[in-house]
Amino acid sequence: MSESEKKVILVTDEGIRTDGRKVDELRPIKLEVGVLSRADGSAFIQQGGNKILAAVYGPRELHPRHLALPDKAYLRCTYRMATFSVDERKSPAPSRREIELSKIIKEALEPALFLEYFPNSVIDVYIQVLQADGGTRCASVTAAALALADAGIPMRDLVTACAVGKADGRIILDLNDIEDKEGDADIPIAMMPQLKRITLLQMDGHLTEKEFQEAINLGINGIMRIYEMQKRALREKYLKIREEVVGAEKSEPKAKNNENTNESKSKGDEKE
Ligand code: ADP
Repeated sequence: MSESEKKVILVTDEGIRTDGRKVDELRPIKLEVGVLSRADGSAFIQQGGNKILAAVYGPRELHPRHLALPDKAYLRCTYRMATFSVDERKSPAPSRREIELSKIIKEALEPALFLEYFPNSVIDVYIQVLQADGGTRCASVTAAALALADAGIPMRDLVTACAVGKADGRIILDLNDIEDKEGDADIPIAMMPQLKRITLLQMDGHLTEKEFQEAINLGINGIMRIYEMQKRALREKYLKIREEVVGAEKSEPKAKNNENTNESKSKGDEKE
């Protein structure tokens, strides 16, 4: 496409993007752990316009049984977009894209899990995209890793993901929907941040070797920032539980004291 045919300016000469971000800026991210009480582990991520829920069940008995693996748990990831998650109603039937994304999300998470501890069983990871705004596979990996940790699945490390790309000749971090569709390149990256091992790397578009190197460095930089948010979200959940336990312990003797006071009061009343 020639420059004159190009409709949208994604990055201005000053380096400002359509949503006002700088080229190396992440979208606002909100992470919450333990949002579903029925699941063994769960997490919610809001990253820009993306709103995604991840729920983990298991390890549990696997059906159909013939899928069972004798030496490790079977990790089953199911990525789905809600019919109302995009502007035009999405068909509720699983699309080829959803099947592909389920597979690559599974492959991004698997290296971090000690699946060998649970032979013949299944760990189910359900990912539901409630609102999509570009980069849902990366946001899904980030949320699913938190949900797995919340479920208490033994892990070597968390997994964190973020996309980088190129638009108007600039390398940009954390692409939104329009940048994903109209930009020149899109590279989703997932990695185990402590172990520094990349578990997902895809590329759509063209980059020179130098641009690719710059993109990977920027992507890793973004991943490390999201990783800090993941750890904070996990800590927040357990701090909340601790506060509840400590609060309950503190109020217990009080309740007993109250009982005693009530008792003596009623005894006093009797005397009167
Ligand atoms: P990712 O969400 O990981 O970037 P894609 O590159 O396939 O995956 O999709 C880019 C974006 O395109 C999605 O985040 C979503 O906003 C949009 N999109 C995906 N599927 C549809 C669809 N069926 N209808 C409309 N928009 C869609």
